[in-house]
Amino acid sequence: MTAKLPQPGELDPIETASRDEIAALQLERLKWSVRHTYDNVEPYRRKCLDKGVHPDDLKSLADLGRFPFMTKSDLRDNYPFGLFAVPVKQIRRLHASSGTTGKPVVVGYTENDLNNWANLVARSIRAAGGRPGDMVHVAYGYGMFTGGLGAHYGVERLGCTVVPMSGGQTEKQVQQILDFRPDIIMVTPSYSLVIAEEFERLGIPPEEISLKVGIFGAEPWGQGMRAEIERKLGLDAVDIYGLTEVMGPGVACECIESKDGPVIWEDHFYPEIIDPETGEVLPDGEQGELVFTSLTKEGFPVIRYRTRDLTRLLKPTSRSFRRMDKIVGRSDDMLIVRGVNVFPTQIEEQILREPRLTGNYQIVLTRDGHLDNVEVRCELQRELTGKVGRGAIEEISRSVAHHIKTIIGISTRVQVMDFDTIPRTQTGKARRVIDQRPKLQ
Ligand code: ADP
Repeated sequence: MTAKLPQPGELDPIETASRDEIAALQLERLKWSVRHTYDNVEPYRRKCLDKGVHPDDLKSLADLGRFPFMTKSDLRDNYPFGLFAVPVKQIRRLHASSGTTGKPVVVGYTENDLNNWANLVARSIRAAGGRPGDMVHVAYGYGMFTGGLGAHYGVERLGCTVVPMSGGQTEKQVQQILDFRPDIIMVTPSYSLVIAEEFERLGIPPEEISLKVGIFGAEPWGQGMRAEIERKLGLDAVDIYGLTEVMGPGVACECIESKDGPVIWEDHFYPEIIDPETGEVLPDGEQGELVFTSLTKEGFPVIRYRTRDLTRLLKPTSRSFRRMDKIVGRSDDMLIVRGVNVFPTQIEEQILREPRLTGNYQIVLTRDGHLDNVEVRCELQRELTGKVGRGAIEEISRSVAHHIKTIIGISTRVQVMDFDTIPRTQTGKARRVIDQRPKLQ
């Protein structure tokens, strides 16, 4: 399904439509999406049959609550393309995100999907204050992540100039910002502060930095962080939210005039909040797990996808769509380290590739300045403790860190310790993660 396009830079009429008009559009699209998924995605059809529901049962938006959920494990079980609703030949692009084990989550977009995605990112940048003719520096990672390319095509769609910088190389980022004088930056909030420090180091005050707006997402950040970024870079900091399974960046974005939580682009994604324990749908305003149903996606539709993000749905303000509150946590054990999603089980897999180590480990997260540091503590096998030299220990440590870096994509410091130094569980559930990062304010 392709939506009719507004001219670049104009508001889409649906953004300011009445709630009745929005609900009518949602119901029409929801019926299409559930039917499309049921007809073309065999594993989802089976779930519906098991639950005794059929697309014909969907007569109102509330009826959606009777349909089964989709979860990350459905993606893992059907890796790589088993949940696609069109033949792979009709997929124009693939992206991937972290799965709970070695296998990533793979998603695919048809031409229409890519078109809708670019429109929604363009709409997001517009909401954040961008206008055609602005220059946008994209410092989200390019590649299989949705961040870089997702932002990129939205910038072009709005009629802006894109600077496809990608992540890393802080000195070069800053030099380029000084030389090109972009109006907007799209980057993770934590990395924006690293960039700000480089400006500080060069003695460049915020008022001399060309950036007027920053569009920040991919990881949780609080109001305290917003104030700090705004002060250090001299810009308006706006929150963008998204996830690969649902689309990528641009599922929701804050409006610069209110900065009161990302507006969910409800004409393409139908949100629900559920109790993560019981699965029951909760009323707006109550905190629970955010669940999304895609309304227009062809290639990889999702019906009631459990994001595991904990938040609330808030009343509309600057647009007619509902907003989401800041993400306050997750209902699973996924960690977000420098914007990269990491599951403890992925690290465990890499440790277990080394036969000289036991499967007992701990992940210690700290924050050094603005960036997360990860230390992985693991243990030698009992019979090797005291028998292997420092050289061998260093070699194990380097090799585990190398595997984690190449497979998961994060840098870690791996500490190899003697057998039985990591505390054993007394309760049956090992404490794998010690998160010493300061709490969001
Ligand atoms: P991304 O490129 O946005 O990181 P992923 O699919 O890799 O996409 O990760 C999605 C997850 O990242 C979300 O489920 C959420 O936990 C987190 N996330 C994305 N954007 C935000 C945001 N603005 N605030 C808080 N968390 C976010």
